[in-house]
Amino acid sequence: MLRNARLVLPHKVVEDAALLVTEGRIARIWERAGGEDAQADELLELDSATIFPGFIDVHIHGAVGVDTLTATADDLHKVAHFLAKQGVTGWLPTLVPAPDEDYARAVEAIAQLMREQAARPPAARAVGVHYEGPFVNRAQCGALRLPYFRSYHTPADVAQLPVVADAPRMITVAPEIEGGIELVRELTARGWIVSIGHTRADVATLDAALALGARHMTHFFNAMSPLHHRAPGPIGWGLTSDDVTCDLIADGVHTDPLMLRLALRCKTHERLLLISDAVAPTGLGDGTYKIWDEQISVVNGRTQNERGSIAGSVSAMRDGVRLLHTLGVAPHKLARMTALNPARLLGVNDVCGSIELGKRADLTALDDEGRVRLTLIGGRVAHAEL
Ligand SMILES: [Zn+2]
Repeated sequence: MLRNARLVLPHKVVEDAALLVTEGRIARIWERAGGEDAQADELLELDSATIFPGFIDVHIHGAVGVDTLTATADDLHKVAHFLAKQGVTGWLPTLVPAPDEDYARAVEAIAQLMREQAARPPAARAVGVHYEGPFVNRAQCGALRLPYFRSYHTPADVAQLPVVADAPRMITVAPEIEGGIELVRELTARGWIVSIGHTRADVATLDAALALGARHMTHFFNAMSPLHHRAPGPIGWGLTSDDVTCDLIADGVHTDPLMLRLALRCKTHERLLLISDAVAPTGLGDGTYKIWDEQISVVNGRTQNERGSIAGSVSAMRDGVRLLHTLGVAPHKLARMTALNPARLLGVNDVCGSIELGKRADLTALDDEGRVRLTLIGGRVAHAEL
């Protein structure tokens, strides 16, 4: 049982609350102190920390020196362990454009981790796989490697992408590339979650992609053509399309906080997700690192590759939570952006993503300074500083 906590429920925050976990699930919630019966096997006193539904990061390339593209299952578990310390309970290992054999090896490692993770020490659960590219716009490559970009010609181009069976698969595409609209049609027909990104698409192309099921946008504002009043492009379209959700890197580097405010005004917390877009050096501090065949320098928490591009972040979801908190975003809205909306995007919201009876006990407790005090994954303690 967790006691003496602030609980972030779907529509409100309750103080002095308690929560009972039985067999890995949320079994009871007491919205005020004193009512709980003390029959729990184990009692954790939260000292007024705030319990959020565990964070779910749908865009992350690695951490602690591990890159998802070259990782073994053991390496991925190291990332998962690090993520649990950051309050993340679910993650979608994300792959940059690469040759077929690299994709195949990486996805096999992810599949192996997913088969084994229930039996390993508790750590953030890998949920599936996210391909960032390879079907994206060369003119908005960001840190992605141009030689591995692809255009779309036949359904075999999609069928040959390795996936984890029966698990969410997400892909970031630019619908304006050669064959892009047919690509979106093929992907949604095969059950992919299609996200628009690394794009310079015009509004007509974006509308066509939406009509075929592309309802999400990847690191909104970043790696897309800028907003212009006579050419609204992906940003103008995304801000005004209520059927579209967007994810944001709120590390204070990728996007000016004022633009985060703009996104919040237009999309509200109901249609925004936080992501980290973290890369392998995350958790290692400033320095020079080699990833994706390039030297990447990290200086004061900002990444840069040899081409002068930002190369992902070295932040965690909780850093975004902290920044949005300073912008005045309420805890239950943060919970939407960090847990329920990602769970909905991945189609796992019946199992996790909010603090509700019967859902898996994937929980993250933060103190007033935003430090992670406790992470529970399926009711198991993955991290505790109590
Ligand atoms: Zn990325």
